[in-house]
Amino acid sequence: MQATHWLQHDSLVLASNNQGKIAEFENLFAQLKLPIQVIPQGRLNIADAIEDGLSFVENAIIKARHAAAHAAKPAIADDSGLVVPILGGAPGIYSARYAGEHGDDQANNALLLERLKPYRQADQAIDAMFICVLALVEHAEDPLPQIFQGVWHGEVLTEARGEHGFGYDPLFWIPALQCSSAELNKEQKNKISHRGQAMRLFAASLTA
Ligand code: IMP
Repeated sequence: MQATHWLQHDSLVLASNNQGKIAEFENLFAQLKLPIQVIPQGRLNIADAIEDGLSFVENAIIKARHAAAHAAKPAIADDSGLVVPILGGAPGIYSARYAGEHGDDQANNALLLERLKPYRQADQAIDAMFICVLALVEHAEDPLPQIFQGVWHGEVLTEARGEHGFGYDPLFWIPALQCSSAELNKEQKNKISHRGQAMRLFAASLTA
C-alpha cells in the first residue's frame, strides 16, 4: 500500500484548469468513491503553474506542488500530451501550446497536420501515443510524490473526426475500434485512455 495520509484530509486538489480533463476526471473519481472531496484548483482560485520541466513527470510534480502550496492541501496533477515518434516526440510536453497559444486546440491540430505532411506516404500510418502522468503529493514539499503513468497507442489521422473530447482527440485514430477518440463518449474513452489507465493504477495503489 502506498502512503495514504492524504486520505485523512477533507479534500484533494485536482491540479488542472483544463475543462476537458476535469470532465474526464469527474467521471473517473466518481467511480472510486473516495471518502474525500476532489476539488479542481480553479474553484480555489489557483492559477496555472509555470510548467518549465522537460518531461511529463517533472511537469506533473511542478503542478501538484504548486496546487498543494496554494491550497495547503494534498494535490494530484495530470501532465499529459500527444507524442509522435516520427516528429522526435513532438508535441510532447508542449501539446497544450504547440501552436503558440495555450489551449488553442484548433491551431494545435492544424499545426500537427502541417508538420506531418512531409512524412505522409500513401496509406502509411503515423504512430502516436497519448501519455498521462499523474503526480500525487501529500503536501508542497513532499519528498516522495506518487507517480502513475498511462500510455495509449494509436495513429494520427489526416483530418479531424468526431465531436467529443478535447485537444487532439479528433486526430487520434484507434485502429482496434476503427474510430477516433473524439468518436468515443467520456465513459468509453476512460475505459481505454492514457488517463483511464493512470487512474486505474492510482486506484490500485489505494488497496494494494
Ligand atoms: P497539460 O494541461 O499541460 O497537461 O496539456 C495537456 C494537453 O495535451 C492538452 O491541452 C491536449 O492538447 C493534450 N491532451 C492531453 N490529454 C488529451 C486527451 O485525452 N485528448 C486530447 N488531447 C489531450
